[in-house]
Amino acid sequence: MKKVIFSIGILFLISICAVTAQKPMRIMILDGESNPYHRIDIGTQIMKKLLEEYKPFQVEVVSAPGKDGDFSNFMPRFIDYQAIVLNYDVPTERWPDALKKSFEQYMSNGGGLVIVHAANNSFPGWVEFNKMVGVGGWRDRDEKSGPYWYYKDGKLVEDKKPGSAGSHGARLPFPIKLVNTNHPVTRGLPAVWMHHNDELYAKLRGPGENMTVLATGYSDKNNHGTGYDEPQIMVLNYGKGRIFHHTTGHDPIGMSSVDFGVLLLRGTEWVATGKVTQKVPANFPTATTVSYRADIAAMNPVPAKPAGK
Ligand code: ZN
Repeated sequence: MKKVIFSIGILFLISICAVTAQKPMRIMILDGESNPYHRIDIGTQIMKKLLEEYKPFQVEVVSAPGKDGDFSNFMPRFIDYQAIVLNYDVPTERWPDALKKSFEQYMSNGGGLVIVHAANNSFPGWVEFNKMVGVGGWRDRDEKSGPYWYYKDGKLVEDKKPGSAGSHGARLPFPIKLVNTNHPVTRGLPAVWMHHNDELYAKLRGPGENMTVLATGYSDKNNHGTGYDEPQIMVLNYGKGRIFHHTTGHDPIGMSSVDFGVLLLRGTEWVATGKVTQKVPANFPTATTVSYRADIAAMNPVPAKPAGK
């Protein structure tokens, strides 16, 4: 008996050491430009605060030059980071080819990318970027960008009908429903939860290659929606790289929803390591009740901006 207790004690000590020896992970939040309604300055601060709550993450903010900025010396060393969190929405031509190529190499060699909300609007004409994000909206995307992807009668549909990409209704709380409960990012989450006041993206279209939809949101026709369950949380692979794509997080109110932070952290850990070790917190929203963080909501600029894309 003593021997068993001793062995358990040793195992316990080993596991404690393993936790304390967890290697730091360098995470880059990349911003620099977006639709002004998105207030990326505040969004970046919020995401930095949230990500730093998971101790192995060491978060650095890199801001790309703006619209008329000089990109000739902008070449971040992506390779130094386990994950790039994109809080960034720009037209295709903004990045020089060498920068695009450098990012493609980083991703295909095993990099990690997290797409937040309007980051999926970025670069409509950059073919490789659209393979990474799977689906995107706005910026003149249409049937040439790829099919619409949505769930109908419980099945993922690839709809090639012509039309523009990207829409959302008024900002309201809405349920997010898991369609994959056995991915490291979603394991342990409730089957359905209420997401706090946010834009519900719909009509996204793109190549959808190597894309696994993890969760959907019902786009209600009574709120300018499609009547379909629209993909809200996706994971993808690009070469050896991993991508976590999360459509919520329009502004500090949406980002204050507890699930936004939890998914941001779990998704970032997964793209960085291929695993998720974080526990689901007790204050995670339920199927009937939203749960939001007052400290994050308080970072909302006053007066609140009207909803944009
Ligand atoms: Zn938005």
